[in-house]
Amino acid sequence: MSKTQVIKAECKECGNADELEVDAGKLGRYMLREALVQQMFPSLSAPERELVMGYRSGYYLCNSCWQTVLGDDDTDTEVSSV
Ligand SMILES: [Zn+2]
Repeated sequence: MSKTQVIKAECKECGNADELEVDAGKLGRYMLREALVQQMFPSLSAPERELVMGYRSGYYLCNSCWQTVLGDDDTDTEVSSV
């Protein structure tokens, strides 16, 4: 049996808050810097790992803002700038 914990991080760019339910024991080890996020949560997607890392560091960017910050040149995402 493993307990879970809901973590929440707020995007520094747009203020959007994301939540994720993770294993509390693994989160504790990660928070104590005993292991890397990919070692504790190998099944999470990249945006979900960002949330876990943002939860610990206090700095979080949501998935869409990451793409803005990284200057993604791909034009396959819809841009509603009209
Ligand atoms: Zn954002």
